[in-house]
Amino acid sequence: MYHRVDVVAPGDRISQSLTVSPAQFAAELQYLHDRRLRTMSVAELEADIRAGQSAGNAVLLTFDDGYDDQYRYAFPLLRRFGDVATFFVNVGSVGRPRHLSWQQIATMAQAGMSFGCHGVTHADLAKLGAAAQSYQIGRCVEVLSARLRDNVIAYAYPSGAFDEQTIRLERHAGLLLGFTTDRRFQRDADSLYELTRRRVKSGMTAEAFGSLLLAPPTYIRVRVSPTP
Ligand SMILES: [Zn+2]
Repeated sequence: MYHRVDVVAPGDRISQSLTVSPAQFAAELQYLHDRRLRTMSVAELEADIRAGQSAGNAVLLTFDDGYDDQYRYAFPLLRRFGDVATFFVNVGSVGRPRHLSWQQIATMAQAGMSFGCHGVTHADLAKLGAAAQSYQIGRCVEVLSARLRDNVIAYAYPSGAFDEQTIRLERHAGLLLGFTTDRRFQRDADSLYELTRRRVKSGMTAEAFGSLLLAPPTYIRVRVSPTP
């Protein structure tokens, strides 16, 4: 799980920890290549889970929050290495200053990048009632799928939090996968709507990055059940 890739780390400490330098990101892509690990799309991950298969030597790279540095720095590096990633965007922020534009998203999607929902705004779903959650999830899926002219299958929960209503609404919106941040939020390790991720931190060593990849995939124990 990445957030920002940028040359200038912003002043505040939270943003700083969310920002990886282009040099670090390039070194991490090189690390994957040196070990013959390939990057997969979110649709490929979903198909593997449905087939009850482990992706084996594949890694899913994700980016949250839709900052335009993802287009400026992460996207060219992904292309240079022949890799793909999944970008979770807030549809209400697209086109705003420092955020991705619809044109940039279209260019990235055309080049094989995947997009998923991160809400209309960056609202913590667990703090919202059913109607507000329904708006965040339903409207994000509606806008993003219309823009991409493709199905949106994945949602990443802002701040990682969710509840039972969230999962019910996701199923209703046709979403197949839900991503939280870390294990703190996971209640059912077998749920496709509670997939955990591992945070890539700014200034992380190659060894620390490698240790993120050594941990067993979170979805290996997933029960395969027919989609409702
Ligand atoms: Zn976020």
